[in-house]
Amino acid sequence: MRSWIRIYLFAIMALTIFLSPTAQAQETDFLRPVLRVGFDDTPGTFWQGSKLLYHGAAYEFAESIATYENVHLTYTRSSLEDNLLRLHAGSLDLVYLPNAPLTDIHLPTPSTLPPHTLYIPLGEGFGWLLVDESRPELRDRFIEAIKVIRNVNPLYPSSLLEKYHVKGNDLNLTAEEKAYLAAHPVIRTMVSPRQPPYTYFQDGEPQGVIADIIKRVENDLGITLKVIPEETQHTMMQHLTDGDIDLVMDFYTDHNWAKAHNATITFPYLTLNYVSVLRKDKSLPENPTVACARPHFYTQDYIERLFPPEQLRYYTDVADCMAAVNNGEADMTFVKSITAQSDIFRGNYYNLYTNGNVVFSHKVSMAISDAADPILLRILNKEIAHIDPQDITSIVNSQVYRVQAKDTLQSFIYRNPFMALCMLGGLLLLIIAWLLYYLNLRHRHNTALWQQANVVENVNIYNLHWFANELPNAIANYSESRKKGELFVLVIVPQRMAFLKEAYGPQTYAESIKTTLEAVTKRFPWILRYGLSAEITHAYMLCQRPTGLTLRQSAEQIEKASRIVVVNGIPTSFSYQLGLCLVPRQGNLDVSLLMDNAMMARNEIIGKTQTIGIFNTNMHDEMIKHQQMELYMEKALEMGEFQIHLQAKYDLNTRKICGAEALVRWQSPELGFMMPNHFISLFERNGFALKLDYYVLETVCALLQERIKQKLPVVPISVNQSGLHISERGYLANMQAIADRYQLPRKLVELELTETVFIDFNTKTENENALQITRRLKSMGFALSMDDFCTGYSSIAMLRNLPMDVMKIDRSMLLSAEQNERSLVILKQVIKMGQSLNMRVLVEGIETEAQERLLQAAGCHIGQGFLFAHPLPTEQFFAKLEDSLKP
Ligand code: C2E
Ligand code: MG
Repeated sequence: MRSWIRIYLFAIMALTIFLSPTAQAQETDFLRPVLRVGFDDTPGTFWQGSKLLYHGAAYEFAESIATYENVHLTYTRSSLEDNLLRLHAGSLDLVYLPNAPLTDIHLPTPSTLPPHTLYIPLGEGFGWLLVDESRPELRDRFIEAIKVIRNVNPLYPSSLLEKYHVKGNDLNLTAEEKAYLAAHPVIRTMVSPRQPPYTYFQDGEPQGVIADIIKRVENDLGITLKVIPEETQHTMMQHLTDGDIDLVMDFYTDHNWAKAHNATITFPYLTLNYVSVLRKDKSLPENPTVACARPHFYTQDYIERLFPPEQLRYYTDVADCMAAVNNGEADMTFVKSITAQSDIFRGNYYNLYTNGNVVFSHKVSMAISDAADPILLRILNKEIAHIDPQDITSIVNSQVYRVQAKDTLQSFIYRNPFMALCMLGGLLLLIIAWLLYYLNLRHRHNTALWQQANVVENVNIYNLHWFANELPNAIANYSESRKKGELFVLVIVPQRMAFLKEAYGPQTYAESIKTTLEAVTKRFPWILRYGLSAEITHAYMLCQRPTGLTLRQSAEQIEKASRIVVVNGIPTSFSYQLGLCLVPRQGNLDVSLLMDNAMMARNEIIGKTQTIGIFNTNMHDEMIKHQQMELYMEKALEMGEFQIHLQAKYDLNTRKICGAEALVRWQSPELGFMMPNHFISLFERNGFALKLDYYVLETVCALLQERIKQKLPVVPISVNQSGLHISERGYLANMQAIADRYQLPRKLVELELTETVFIDFNTKTENENALQITRRLKSMGFALSMDDFCTGYSSIAMLRNLPMDVMKIDRSMLLSAEQNERSLVILKQVIKMGQSLNMRVLVEGIETEAQERLLQAAGCHIGQGFLFAHPLPTEQFFAKLEDSLKP
């Protein structure tokens, strides 16, 4: 057990010794004897840094000597006095003495050095190592080692001094130098162009490393280096040679080169390193062809020395050299390391690269023209020594970074092809996504627009715009049927639609029409296309007449199938009017004319009992005529083209004139003489009938007034009143005004109202309204006559409700009574009924004596007709009246 513990302790001890640093030192000490060196911190030559490491030119030199002496140095930091005491006491072997005043290691020891010590001069700028006077062999060994080092590498000490020479000297200008600067505040200067970031011009101002150094010099010396811009290096050199300028800032440090340009040069202040530029895609051959810029100093000084003449190709400038490598004419070229990146990027030579290895270097000085005062050279030398080399390094770095920061998209893509590809792909995807989104949006928008333009809202059925657009294609698709005359356009118009909409509500009405339309079009496949008007007032259809049916029969089928409309689940009977127009078998198609013609055919049957109107060419002529009438009607009224004819009403028993009806005629200079059946229905449609009626009424009133004034015989005259008056605003007021103006005897003027005027007056309020109107008219003194009695359906209702004075039985009753016994019975009863209601009963349209006799037998006392008198111009009528009054 004890022996195990012993082994364990021993192992731990051994491990501790092995791992401890002293163990390693001891091992080193064992190989190389240790010498102990005392020093005090001396910036630049010997000091201990923050990480307890040693620095300085003297420190490095001492370490190099130690390696030659095969000794190991350890260091103790203390004051010089302490160190000397320890040196003499034997606890130090060497003491460092800074700031050695001697320049030659062989010179005798000056009296200012500490006594009882021997001196090892490290060299100027390094200082001394002191040994105790008892140890001359140590000093000799060290001096010997220094000699060996200087022999082996004479530049070594100066490289150490350069390395630690971080701070510039004081400027220390003499009075004479200061006076010179005061007298010459502006120095004419030039710098090389076009070598960013080393030296270049921007907007006529110098830029880059050299420009920054110029600023520094100007600042330090308090003068202006006025830089005169130059295009080429060659012309700049010419100005220097000619003595036109005082100073060239960037000049190869070469005295011969300077002499050749009549100049002297300062100390170098900058080192330019040159790197090789190669192609990425081509490995360097054993004997590469080198592109070199002929006018450059370094070409002859370096390149021509490095390569045999057969490998050299000469170009005008660096840019040409780069291009030559890029296009494969040469394998390599050399450029300044600080311009390499910029040269490659600026020329867009992304296939070129530099490995960064410095191939050769040269120094840069300032060149002062021989024409300038040599004192300038001395001043600039002091300035160069004054500038901290670290500052120059900073200037170079900042300029290099600045240029590299200027990146182009092209260079970015070249350097980051994958990322660029990804970004491009991403961008492309984004554009595609946006495009898709946009197209989708547009599609949706277009669809919505199209929908708006082509479909009837709420019911989702194509509208008339769509139908008109579609019609030519559809007709073209059925060209064979067209040739056979089987295609026709049909318009179907539900009757009393305003009432229906009102009664069921617009939405229910719309839905019912939609369902019916869909059902009918589904049932008859020969309805090829259809479209509904936006207000759901009518629908157009393109139909192919089924074999065996006429146009009219086809239309009847549609009408019949549409008749029962289910409204709110209740089958309801609808009535329609249909207009048809055959698609011409050949020739050009005018779609809107086709549709207009169908509508015209339908309009022709308005107010008639027919449900189907078929277009014929007369209708078209009529339409043209209507348009002309509308064009002239206002003028005609003004010009008195409307003439009034009077047709006598007479007593059937006495055959004396007992009244007259005013009937209008239009004597148009443009359209000729027209009877009312040519224009009244048009005027009823366009509202002009209102004006015309007032005109007729006033003319009649004026006539009567005039005759009364002249004491001439008069009879009651009736004027026809259009149904439009009933809903005319201000009708009663206008009539009152007329009544007041003419002040005619009561009932001398009779107003003929047709029962159709009151046909829609079914509701209580409407009835009351009609009653109101008739009562008011009567109170104004007008007699009221019920015209065309027995042609409508509501005659009896009218009789019941309205206090009319005259019943004018329509000619159709007379004709029918002539033919048919039952009709005769009805006629007799109607006459009787009228008389029982205290109305004067009149039958119009008596053309034959037989008819006259029939009426007399039926108890009718008053008649109107061609048998007795045609409508006559007023003078003729009154002449006839006066005649008939003669006994
Ligand atoms: P209406 O009020 O029924 O007028 C009677 C029409 O019957 C007149 O036709 C008259 O010439 C015609 N007539 C008279 N006797 C006979 C006959 O024996 N046989 C036949 N076949 N016809 C006969 P007219 O003058 O062509 O007038 C036609 C219609 O024009 C009138 O029918 C009336 O509704 C309308 N009208 C005429 N003048 C005016 C007017 O100033 N204002 C309005 N609103 N309508 C008018
Ligand atoms: Mg009449």
